[in-house]
Amino acid sequence: MNKIIFRDPNITIFQSALFMTNSTVISTDDVIIVVDPGWLPDEVLAIRHYVEGIRGKKPLYLMFTHSDYDHIIGYKAFEADKVFVSKAMSDNPDKEKIIEQILEFDEQYYIERPYPIEFPNGDFTVFRDGVQYRQGNTKMTFYLTPGHTADSMMIVIWQLGLCIAGDYLSNVEFPFIYHSSVDYVNTLEKLPVIHDRNWFTRMIPGHGAPALSINDWLQRRTESLAYIFALRESIATRIPFDESSLWVRYRFPRLQQKYHLDNIALMTREFEQGLWEWDPDFSLQDISHVQPLEGRPMEQDEE
Ligand SMILES: [Zn+2]
Repeated sequence: MNKIIFRDPNITIFQSALFMTNSTVISTDDVIIVVDPGWLPDEVLAIRHYVEGIRGKKPLYLMFTHSDYDHIIGYKAFEADKVFVSKAMSDNPDKEKIIEQILEFDEQYYIERPYPIEFPNGDFTVFRDGVQYRQGNTKMTFYLTPGHTADSMMIVIWQLGLCIAGDYLSNVEFPFIYHSSVDYVNTLEKLPVIHDRNWFTRMIPGHGAPALSINDWLQRRTESLAYIFALRESIATRIPFDESSLWVRYRFPRLQQKYHLDNIALMTREFEQGLWEWDPDFSLQDISHVQPLEGRPMEQDEE
């Protein structure tokens, strides 16, 4: 059974028994927002039951931070008025593969669900940084954050000073880089810019504990960057990465070593393709490539 690991008048975080996966329910005067509802059937139904209890006549929005199967598994348990995904997620070429992962997981553990398994169909697709959506006085801003997957995005809820980060900035996982370490670093470097434009203090990762202060998520960001740069140095110089330092910080080595080795394989391919270089004399000029956020925020009001 999932437990509630955080609750205040507007935010409830349900955490699954599996992989400390977080599902967030946000309640304002204007709307109920559910982000990445998961994992096990009873857990998903408990979230639905909770939402039914607090919803009243408010619209229900469903949002997905990315397309990893553990994050979309609860999609069809909810009758949402609007579904928010990134454009890259809506165009994901691997939808069938991802659905197959869910079916495989469920069959492997004899799990039956009282709702169909489908890939989220977005009504609102986020195609660039800073896209806003307003429902009454509740204002949300979306940012594209590729790196973990190609279709990751973050959601900022202005009034609550809250960022829902997807699979970044976890306190129980180092960066799992399925897509691109170059994009991953860009996303981490973009975070302070996102922060400066929106001022959020609290951040909810896809797995693990929420960061409840700016210092807390900034420290996680630094740790993530340090990990990636240490890996790059090790790959470029062929000096083995000190894995033991990783397991002092992260406490599930028996599973996570695989993700670490996958990161090495992916980043070695990137290095061979010249997608990044290791500069031992790192200077500030090297961050001049940080992508500025494009354009002004675009606002779209409720119809
Ligand atoms: Zn995840």
